[in-house]
Amino acid sequence: MAVFIVVGMVSRMTIMTVYPVTAFLWPTLIVSIVFIIYVYLPIRFFVAAALAAAFSVVAPAWWFFVAGTTLPLEQMLRASVWLVFANALGFLAANSIQRAQRERYAQSLLLKELLSTDAMTGIGNRRRFDDALEREWRRCSRSGKPLSLLMIDVDHFKAYNDHHGHLQGDECLRQVAKLLVESVGRPADLVARYGGEEFVCLLPEIAEEGARAVAAKCMMAIARAAIPHAGLPAAAKLTISIGAATGHEVALHSPGALVALADKLLYCAKRAGRDQVVTGVL
Ligand code: GH3
Ligand code: MG
Ligand code: MG
Repeated sequence: MAVFIVVGMVSRMTIMTVYPVTAFLWPTLIVSIVFIIYVYLPIRFFVAAALAAAFSVVAPAWWFFVAGTTLPLEQMLRASVWLVFANALGFLAANSIQRAQRERYAQSLLLKELLSTDAMTGIGNRRRFDDALEREWRRCSRSGKPLSLLMIDVDHFKAYNDHHGHLQGDECLRQVAKLLVESVGRPADLVARYGGEEFVCLLPEIAEEGARAVAAKCMMAIARAAIPHAGLPAAAKLTISIGAATGHEVALHSPGALVALADKLLYCAKRAGRDQVVTGVL
C-alpha cells in the first residue's frame, strides 16, 4: 500500500509537472481526483491537508521557475488552476469518505457497548461476562495463573419485591450493582449482572485468598449501605450470599466448570443460612 502511494504520487507529480498541458484535460483531471481520493483516504486529516497544499504550491512553482522558459504563460496559469482545483476536490471527497468511515466505526463501537451493557443497572451484562470469561480463561491457561469467580445473589429478594414493590426492587438492584463495582479495584476485574438478582465478578490472576478478600469487601459494602428490607423480621437489612470459586491450572478444565463450581458454592452459602461467603477450588 505504501509503495503504491509513493509510486502513484511521484508519477502523478512528474506527469503533471513536466507536462502541465495534461492538467487541464478532463480525463486527466478526473483520474487525478480519483487518485487523490485514494491517496488521501488512508492518511490522517492534517497530513492530507499538508499534501494537498504542497501539491498545489510545488507544481506551479516548478512550472514558473524551472520549466517557465519552454511553456506558454496562459498554459501554466490554466494548469495551476486545474491542479489546485483537483487537489481541493480530491481532498474534500477523501475527507467526507473518511468522516463517513469514522462515523460507521463509532456507531459499531456504540452498538457493541450497548449490546454488552445491562440496560437497568448500567454495568456489563451476561454477554460481556461470557466474552470476558472466555478471554481470561484462555489468557490464564497460557500464563498458568489462577482465575477466580464470585457468584453473588441477593438474599430474599422476592420478599423485598413483595414488600417494597418492583420499582423499588429495580432501584435496589442498581444500588447493589454500584456498590459491587466500587468494591472491585483492578481494571482487569469485571462485575456483570448475570441475570435477575444475581451478579458475577471475574477476577483474573487472583487466587483463593484474593477472591475471599474481594468477596469480603463486597459483603462489607452492602452491610455499610444498610439497605432496609421490610420483608424480613424487624430492623433487618439487605444481605448477599457469595460463592467464590478459584481455578488453578485452568487449562485442565473448561470455563463452564468454574461457573458450575461458583454456582454450587453459592447454593452452599444459601443452605448455610445466607449472608456469607463460601469458597472452593477447582
Ligand atoms: P434467595 O435468598 O434464596 O436467593 O431468595 P430470593 O427470593 O432472592 O430468590 P428467588 O430466586 O426466589 O427470587 C428472586 C427474585 O428476584 C424474584 C424476582 O422477582 C426478583 N427479580 C429478578 N430480576 C429482577 C429485576 O430486574 N427487578 C426486580 N425488581 N426484581 C427482580
Ligand atoms: Mg436471591
Ligand atoms: Mg437468584
